[in-house]
Amino acid sequence: MRNDDEAVWGHVEAKRAEAIALSDRVWGMPELAYAEHRSAAEHTAFLRAEGFRVTENLADIPTAMMGEAGEGGPVIAILGEFDALPGLSNEAGVAEHRPIPGDGNGHGCGHNLFGAASLLAATAVKGWLAENGIAGRVRYYGCPAEEGGAAKGFMARAGCFDDVDLAITWHPSSHCAVDPAISLANTRIDFTFHGRASHAAASPHLGRSALDAAELMSVGVQYLREHIPSDSRIHHAYLDVGGVAPNVVQARAKVRYLIRSADLDGLRRLVERVRRIADGAALMTETRVETQVISAVSNRLGNRPLERAMQDQWERLGPPAWDEADIAKAQEFQATLGEEDITTSFRRVGLPPNGAALCDRIPPLDARGVPMVGSTDVGDVSWKVPTVQARGATYAIGTPGHSWQLTAQGKLPAAHKGLVQVAKVMAGVAADAIRRPELVEAAKAEHRERTGGRPYVSPLPEGAKPPIGMSRAV
Ligand SMILES: [Zn+2]
Repeated sequence: MRNDDEAVWGHVEAKRAEAIALSDRVWGMPELAYAEHRSAAEHTAFLRAEGFRVTENLADIPTAMMGEAGEGGPVIAILGEFDALPGLSNEAGVAEHRPIPGDGNGHGCGHNLFGAASLLAATAVKGWLAENGIAGRVRYYGCPAEEGGAAKGFMARAGCFDDVDLAITWHPSSHCAVDPAISLANTRIDFTFHGRASHAAASPHLGRSALDAAELMSVGVQYLREHIPSDSRIHHAYLDVGGVAPNVVQARAKVRYLIRSADLDGLRRLVERVRRIADGAALMTETRVETQVISAVSNRLGNRPLERAMQDQWERLGPPAWDEADIAKAQEFQATLGEEDITTSFRRVGLPPNGAALCDRIPPLDARGVPMVGSTDVGDVSWKVPTVQARGATYAIGTPGHSWQLTAQGKLPAAHKGLVQVAKVMAGVAADAIRRPELVEAAKAEHRERTGGRPYVSPLPEGAKPPIGMSRAV
């Protein structure tokens, strides 16, 4: 088995330059959710050049694609992403907030590395299967719009993972570790209030304010917060405040709510309560409210057998071999952060702070971390098939997610080393599963137990379509 690991890691090394170049190109063309046309084309071209069998337009999403290689055996999916974020552009490599003139988009979540490392892992497994004549199939799934678009939920609902045996993924991080499966179910819902316009001074009694309704809804939700489970979250953003004229009673207002809960049942209950508050706000203001579910994701299920297999890879590989220049650069970025950013980052993975600027230890599998409470559309895949996720260190410890500091570190040598290391871990887990059918069986048995044998039910409302135009809308 040890020899198999080294063999598959060797295939990662053999393709590292191409994957790093891909990551750097995608960094340079930051595209938002569902608008990742050039980035997706780069991934598709890479798959074709490496001889994968490519399927495009998965789940009717123009920027979702899958490449498969190998014959027979188990089907291992490796998931990648490549979408960027608005307002997070920054010059590469400088520990200073220097936005690049232009559209302002930036890879502030490191998805340029994310897609490239997953593709590198799949390419390595392909090479290893072919070289050894082993039965097994590896697939790279290019998954768009993780940032708010939840494409994997639509892909899961469309059956894209139906014949997959297990799925492997990762996310850029401060640390190298197995990512504990704590993520919240969430949904985004737009509430649009319709009132009646009127001259705010001459005939205020004839107007019915949609903006008042939206504001009253906010007040109602503030009071609700005291009475919800402590792991639930409710956030909102105004999409339309009804214009800029204070002397016109606002006839229309639109607010987007993002509601998170530990699981789907909890989410359903909480959404119902928020909806009642919206109804109450409409009642109070004599307006009408219309709702539209924009996206929804499931909580993520863990899988112990796969987590143990991944931990085994990390322990054998260790963190990337940083050099002094990597560490000096990471220290420059840490100087732009607060002490709390750094200690929080250690606490998340259950390690005591030790002054390291870049990850220098693999936390034990059962380290009692304080995981970040967020949501991911990997949740939906994890309800379909056994799924395991790594954290791969690609930046200075303490760098906040969705920050200019993260964008700025996306092309550094340290980021490249992190990309290669986590690709080895994912390829190693895939090869392990292909060689040991008992691992796949154990993963499936636990998956049946965790889902209680219930089939996956998409949290998306019937008829909901991928919000392909979402990055143009607001
Ligand atoms: Zn991300």
